[in-house]
Amino acid sequence: MIALEHVSKRYGGVAAVDDVSLTIPTGEVFGIVGQSGAGKSTLARIVNLLERPDSGTVTVDDVELTSLRESDLRAARRRIGMVFQRFNLLNSRSVRGNVELALELDGTSRQDRRARAQEMLDLVGLGHRADASVHELSGGQQQRVGIARALAARPSVLLSDEATSALDPETTTSILELYRRINRELGLTVLLITHEMDVVKSTCDSAALIEAGKVVEQGRLVDVIKTP
Ligand code: ADP
Ligand code: ADP
Repeated sequence: MIALEHVSKRYGGVAAVDDVSLTIPTGEVFGIVGQSGAGKSTLARIVNLLERPDSGTVTVDDVELTSLRESDLRAARRRIGMVFQRFNLLNSRSVRGNVELALELDGTSRQDRRARAQEMLDLVGLGHRADASVHELSGGQQQRVGIARALAARPSVLLSDEATSALDPETTTSILELYRRINRELGLTVLLITHEMDVVKSTCDSAALIEAGKVVEQGRLVDVIKTP
């Protein structure tokens, strides 16, 4: 479970996140939806403490991240796998090399890194492209590599920050199906941050709607989304 309690973050005069309390149950696909500038990215960075909130607490799997020192945070952050809009892959490395990268700093042996990378690439349907260069892949394939990399370190949560925004509708659909499958097969909690209500409607179990840094609605999809 991820629990945010009374979390706030200001940048100068702007309340980017304003007294947000949210509970994201384990094993759900949970959407955080709002327009550009609503505070979604700030909230995403706060969930794994890339950004410290000014006040409030963040708890992931019973560990209160906000009480940890920087040196202990690094291990705690592994609970959360991040997938980004712009993929953030290294063009100089092969597809496999990008996935292995996630395991290079934690003492995993070379052989285990390779096996784990292959397993994750198989999972996302790219096992046959392990030796390819990243730039040979389509946008959707690159996003799958980003997902494989995020999964490599065995997180309990997969956090996707606008990860389908740069993709065409068809590719978006297949990536969203992949998130659902990862949720189902690996039991991961998936946190989808998006400005697209359609993404939430098609994919999420529950969602929170944020406006100007505040949660204005949250709950199971049937209750939150009132179609006009
Ligand atoms: P979203 O991801 O929903 O587009 P953001 O979290 O990026 O929203 O931004 C929320 C608000 O906080 C915006 O007004 C934005 O300009 C402001 N903001 C975000 N990050 C910073 C920053 N590093 N410095 C100053 N203002 C910021
Ligand atoms: P997104 O909305 O997808 O986060 P942006 O281009 O708005 O993308 O923001 C990119 C980065 O710039 C983020 O890290 C965000 O926190 C930061 N940022 C956003 N608004 C501001 C701002 N007004 N001043 C400084 N940094 C900002």
